[in-house]
Amino acid sequence: MLATKLVDNAYDVALENFDAAADALGLDNDTREMIKYPERVLTVSVPVRMDDGSIKRFQGYRVQHSTARGPAKGGIRFHPQVTLDEVKALATWMTWKCAVVNIPFGGGKGGITCDPKHMSQHELEHMTRRYTSAILPLIGPQQDIPAPDVYTNSQTMAWIMDTYSMTKGYTIPGVVTGKPISLGGSLGRNEATGRGVFYTIQCACEHLGIPLTGATVAVQGFGNAGSVAAQLLHEAGAKIIAVSDSAGAIFKRDGLDVPELIHMKAIAGHVHGFPGSEPIDPAALLTLKCDILVPAALENIIHGENARSVRTKIVAEAANGPLTPEADAILEDKGTFVIPDILCNGGGVTVSYFEWVQNEQHLRWDLHEVNSRLERIMKNSFSEVLETKLQRKVSMRTAANVIGIARVVEANKSRGLYP
Ligand code: NAD
Repeated sequence: MLATKLVDNAYDVALENFDAAADALGLDNDTREMIKYPERVLTVSVPVRMDDGSIKRFQGYRVQHSTARGPAKGGIRFHPQVTLDEVKALATWMTWKCAVVNIPFGGGKGGITCDPKHMSQHELEHMTRRYTSAILPLIGPQQDIPAPDVYTNSQTMAWIMDTYSMTKGYTIPGVVTGKPISLGGSLGRNEATGRGVFYTIQCACEHLGIPLTGATVAVQGFGNAGSVAAQLLHEAGAKIIAVSDSAGAIFKRDGLDVPELIHMKAIAGHVHGFPGSEPIDPAALLTLKCDILVPAALENIIHGENARSVRTKIVAEAANGPLTPEADAILEDKGTFVIPDILCNGGGVTVSYFEWVQNEQHLRWDLHEVNSRLERIMKNSFSEVLETKLQRKVSMRTAANVIGIARVVEANKSRGLYP
């Protein structure tokens, strides 16, 4: 049995987080009405001819929460638990996230309710291309720019870009980010989310006086975000004592060999059975005594029922929405330092922005330029959120939301959108 427990509707959580920050900002009701809800919601039917010859229909979504500060930006998720409410929540968080790291994008998100682990490459390609043509009226380099999320990757983005470009008659790399480098992807984009998580953990450790060398870390979810964060923490001298994926969890008191684990996961597709580790209950990973806990899988995995048992000093939210508001309150009470998702995992969209800028200008930046710009943005954003937290005496999450929401309000006001 896996550690995920979807106790709250993610969209309710997003709205509750919004209200907490809007209260802290003293936003009036008219302003809340203007910016709280998605601008556009599209539900699409995606029929696919499966390998056995039958036609299977999948449900897909694309949501644009806000385009006040620029084109909508946000990933595409393929997962059996995708719902419209989840996509609306993720699109909402994207709006505040882009504003927190202060890049000129709004928030969007997409997804298909499907089980990609039980589909062939051929079926995935057909589903992706059909979905792309269904959401075509919404996407474009100046309108709405998808990127990878859970169980989608650079190959998925290449199929989207190709399908979109076929309808225009020429290649348009800027319609998606997270593409293969050969199609105009940016160096450093694949590692950007995990790298950004790492930079914010560095900042939090510095603030709390916790040396990163020798710090103990547990990581839930060993995909793109989780494995890169684990790798960089390992390189910085931290001990990754536990890791999980959808198939199980492993533990090693004196630290896992992360490069070897990444190698095994790439070949075997799972982390369980890693030599020298012992299996543990995936739910128990979340309550291990450690310095840093990195949830890097799905929403609502720390909730009212397990939050009191969490024994870490720092929660670094690589995943979107891993804590319910009830868990948030419990951890805040316990003095756990939470690096909120819209700050912690903002490195992905930041380098997506770099990729889009390079595509639009037909430029190629080297890796050093990408990573140094990313580091500067992540560390500045962390400082701004921390300063707001300390000034306003609110949680890190509310502080991040306050910054994001205030920037979106400002943009709307400047556009003269208020009566
Ligand atoms: P991914 O598909 O690369 O990896 C997801 C990982 O989570 C896999 O290892 C999978 O096995 C694991 N997983 C799934 N269910 C699990 C469970 N119940 N328990 C433990 N592990 C489980 O996805 P990703 O891109 O790394 O995304 C992970 C999280 O990071 C998501 O919340 C996503 O929205 C967020 N995120 C990703 C990016 C990005 O650029 N990829 C950017 C910002 C935020």
